[in-house]
Amino acid sequence: MDTTPQKIAFLGLGSMGLPMARRLLDAGHPLTVWNRTAAKADALVADGAVRAPSPAEAVRDADVVVTMLADPAAALAVADELIPALRPGTHWIDTSTVGPDTVAALAARLPAGVTLLDAPVMGSVDRAAAGELLILAGGDTAPVAGVLALLGEVTPCGGPGAGAALKLVLINAVIGGVALVAEALTLADSLGLPRDLALRTLGAGPLSGAVGRATATGSHFPVALAAKDVALATATAKLPVLEAVHNLLVRDPALLGEDLAALTR
Ligand code: NAP
Repeated sequence: MDTTPQKIAFLGLGSMGLPMARRLLDAGHPLTVWNRTAAKADALVADGAVRAPSPAEAVRDADVVVTMLADPAAALAVADELIPALRPGTHWIDTSTVGPDTVAALAARLPAGVTLLDAPVMGSVDRAAAGELLILAGGDTAPVAGVLALLGEVTPCGGPGAGAALKLVLINAVIGGVALVAEALTLADSLGLPRDLALRTLGAGPLSGAVGRATATGSHFPVALAAKDVALATATAKLPVLEAVHNLLVRDPALLGEDLAALTR
């Protein structure tokens, strides 16, 4: 693994991007940052990152570009601005959850000599800060292995788009599992059973991981982003259970900004 500090541009400093960018800066990489809401970069800039006024300026001199954006619309909008400024030899890692179709659309527009790795992540803000994300990589990770190692553990998934595809599989299983735990708790309540008893016994069975996620306190994965991920899945295949889960997710506007665990409250 090449350990020479690479010049990194990080675009998208939301709940996930900010702690991820912080790890790259703290590891000694020269870091240029851009975020639509510029103030979110303030703390990084105070600690030595360079603030770019636009996506194009952010990536112009970068060896590695990392994007962590909300959804396909955001990724495509930022891509419109950054792609013309990418120079040959740049490696672009997209860690956003956008699905394989968007990854293919981005890849089709790459300038010659630029690579794109789809590398969406499992794990929330707590694991992003700790560098303990599960990184689902589609394509060749070798040129960016040092950067990825600072963010978490890489699972090679196959060729371009395979990381984005597996991410939809894994996150939809998690979201569906949390929704099922929420319904099981509603059922327990309607049968007059204590919530603690239901949670403890569910957690001792095959849904233990879903119970763990449904009761997590260090995560911040808003219901709105979960709904986006379910919509990406149901646009791909016939998934009646997940279609019902999508309806559940978007039913209460007050929940959209809350962590997924709010489904169980
Ligand atoms: P977030 O806090 O909402 O941040 C989203 C980022 O996208 C912000 O930087 C936001 O800029 C930017 N953005 C949104 N629309 C944009 C547009 N039209 N043009 C330019 N920038 C735009 O979301 P997050 O929790 O960090 O999640 C980011 C991605 O990681 C999502 O794909 C999500 O599904 C995935 N993910 C999240 C988690 C989690 O636990 N949160 C875990 C794994 C994966 P502003 O700051 O200006 O709004």
